[in-house]
Amino acid sequence: MDVDIPEPGPKDVLIKVKAAAICGTDIHIMEWTPFAQARLKPPVIFGHECSGEVVKMGSQVASLAVGDLVAVETHIPDEACFMCRTGLQHICQNMAIIGVHTDGVFAEYAKIPAVCCWKLPKDTNPDLGAILEPWGVAVNGILKGEINNRSVAVFGCGPIGLMGLGSINAWGASQIFAVEPSETRLKMVPRFAPDAVLLNPAKEDAVKAIMDATGGLGVDVSIDISGNPKGIQGALAVVRRAGRVSLVGLPSEPVTLDLTANIIYKEARVFGSTGRMMWGTWYEMQNLMESGKFDPMPVITDRMPLADFAKGIEMAAGGKAGKIILYP
Ligand SMILES: [Zn+2]
Ligand SMILES: [Zn+2]
Repeated sequence: MDVDIPEPGPKDVLIKVKAAAICGTDIHIMEWTPFAQARLKPPVIFGHECSGEVVKMGSQVASLAVGDLVAVETHIPDEACFMCRTGLQHICQNMAIIGVHTDGVFAEYAKIPAVCCWKLPKDTNPDLGAILEPWGVAVNGILKGEINNRSVAVFGCGPIGLMGLGSINAWGASQIFAVEPSETRLKMVPRFAPDAVLLNPAKEDAVKAIMDATGGLGVDVSIDISGNPKGIQGALAVVRRAGRVSLVGLPSEPVTLDLTANIIYKEARVFGSTGRMMWGTWYEMQNLMESGKFDPMPVITDRMPLADFAKGIEMAAGGKAGKIILYP
């Protein structure tokens, strides 16, 4: 539908959206699940993963200029609460989310707070700019500790898991296990982590396979990106004693866990992980790209005009596509 071009406030910029990516959150919104009903107050333009060109500046914005290409950090911090003032803006107590609480980026133009803009080199492919946000979700979960020369198990190989696997591989993990029930997605793993052991939990006991392959020790690091209760339970089951677990995927309901066996007796360290550090995670991604050791672009499997968003979201919901890019 036609709407007015938004007017940036003093601390905002107006961007012309160059590329937007479809996220699992957008599927929730499109299907109007309880998750979406609890968060959105329509009418709202949704979509949040994007890159765009700054075309208009708020009066107080000094950090950007018209013509800059930016990627968008989805989480809007209030810059005032305890978390923000102690370096943890990404878990701001009063956080708003672009495309959920504010109008988003499935549009030709979007109003973005300058605090949420990550400036990109001018020659950056806008598609790449649009997938930094979801890639950052993986990176924030992975970098809760050492990854170099560690054995790592990843549960869930959707787009975020795939980009995570590529990063883990580039950072020099010693052994990688990829657990994913969709054969289509499992087949994409070698493009990101060529030496990963591929495990399909629909066909085999992935936990047993990982324990056997590590001589009964378990892995140094395990990460759940699936949000599936079995994935979370698996991630906790395969981590070695005093190992590290990152929980990134969001289960839709409470999950039953054996804390005694999996965490307490193991002295396991369990990290929740959400969003991306502002801007530590973004610098980590930039460093990894500049190293030339990992390129996340192969996660993009489909590209289409924004007008086809409903088709794109249906494809994403089908669980077979990688990242889908929309062009306004
Ligand atoms: Zn997202
Ligand atoms: Zn805050």
